Amino acid sequence: MRADLFPAPPVPRVPFAGRDQDFPVHRIYCVGRNFADHAKEMGAPVERGTPTIFMKPADAVHLHPRLPYPSGTTDLHHEVEMVVALGRDADGPLAPGEGLALVCAYGVGLDLTRRDLQAIAKDKRLPWDVSKGFDASAPLSALRHVDDIGHPSAAAALWLEINGERRQASTLGEMIFGVDDILVHLSTLFRLRAGDLVFMGTPAGVAALQRGDRYRAVLEGVAELSGEVA
Ligand code: MN
Repeated sequence: MRADLFPAPPVPRVPFAGRDQDFPVHRIYCVGRNFADHAKEMGAPVERGTPTIFMKPADAVHLHPRLPYPSGTTDLHHEVEMVVALGRDADGPLAPGEGLALVCAYGVGLDLTRRDLQAIAKDKRLPWDVSKGFDASAPLSALRHVDDIGHPSAAAALWLEINGERRQASTLGEMIFGVDDILVHLSTLFRLRAGDLVFMGTPAGVAALQRGDRYRAVLEGVAELSGEVA
């Protein structure tokens, strides 16, 4: 009989708010440049074309209100984002309109970015992994089940305060690609599974976080995330 050389690491889990259950995380997909105002501020073209997709490791999820400042950067940026949680597997590529049926919950999170390393990667046409996929790079709220809150509307506000000052604010209707669009696209590239999370992209106003900053992210009617950079 074969045995593991060492104990397998535990599956990262995100709690559901108001329920006695957790969400075991399989993968984290992220959408880049999904708000026109943010694409502009990053000097990227605003276009509907093909969504920009990248990933973070599942164990980048960070649930503690004390956020460690990461190594290797002096320009850690916040990006407040709606987070979509899948509760069912996709059988294969989805047809338009089939995406929402996979979604079991929503939350709000931060797609933390080592902006200095990302700028170097863009400049040299290198991968984004070290700028996006580091430890604790995905602070995330408790999830709200769709049976409890439904699907958020286009009018739902998404905003982030740093030390009580509003830094980013928009509504979900400002996203270039909606949840169904993104899930349909992802399903043509990957096997979508229950346990997948999707960070849906950020509006304009991304900026640096400093040690000691207090953050509060809100997706209106859905979830709230607050903490402090240690
Ligand atoms: Mn982002």
